[in-house]
Amino acid sequence: NTFAEIDLGEALNQNIQRCKYVKPTPVQRYAIPISLAGRDLMACAQTGSGKTAAFCFPIISGIMREQCVQRPRVARTAFPMALILSPTRELSCQIHDEAKKFSYQTGVKVVVAYGGAPINQQLRELERGVDILVATPGRLVDLLERARVSLQMIRYLALDEADRMLDMGFEPQIRKIVEQMDMPPPGMRQTLLFSATFPKEIQGLASDFLSNYVFLAV
Ligand code: AMP
Repeated sequence: NTFAEIDLGEALNQNIQRCKYVKPTPVQRYAIPISLAGRDLMACAQTGSGKTAAFCFPIISGIMREQCVQRPRVARTAFPMALILSPTRELSCQIHDEAKKFSYQTGVKVVVAYGGAPINQQLRELERGVDILVATPGRLVDLLERARVSLQMIRYLALDEADRMLDMGFEPQIRKIVEQMDMPPPGMRQTLLFSATFPKEIQGLASDFLSNYVFLAV
């Protein structure tokens, strides 16, 4: 019933305490245990429901446990272990700010990349190393085409406000991005899909991207 009772790793539990989060919101209460159990998840959740923490906590916790995983060393190519896709620069920056607070002193590095801004600063950030990449779909496709990001090591994929991403016409970019993760070894990736609504198009994404998923509506 409180975050202190959920073992997310000592450093993350401390950060949650520092942020003065005591009780999980309804979406957090169900989404966090489902994600920690390794299941794919499709969650209907509105803005303000606490969905950011609902996908950030299990991702940060998982990466804390997997930090020893060796990643390829390719000059100027970043190999994040988690990808959080969101529709806009504003939302990406908001997620980045929260994820950074939660990953304080965990050793987990969070970087944000969005369109409509010069790419050079983002490239420099990526070169310094990244565990969790928060990105808008268009800018990420650009980074993939420049081979500055590889999705080969992705273990966690979160799609936030998926319905808005589709409304904005990002479906081709999202499909292109997810295709790049479908290289071996399969079954290694956990996918968390968040959307305020659940129309036909989102159901399509869910059946294409998720395997044996839990559907959560709160
Ligand atoms: P979100 O829906 O992720 O945009 O979160 C909405 C707001 O609620 C943000 O300002 C969060 O910092 C805050 N928040 C999320 N979860 C909790 C919680 N369990 N306890 C207190 N505040 C929270």
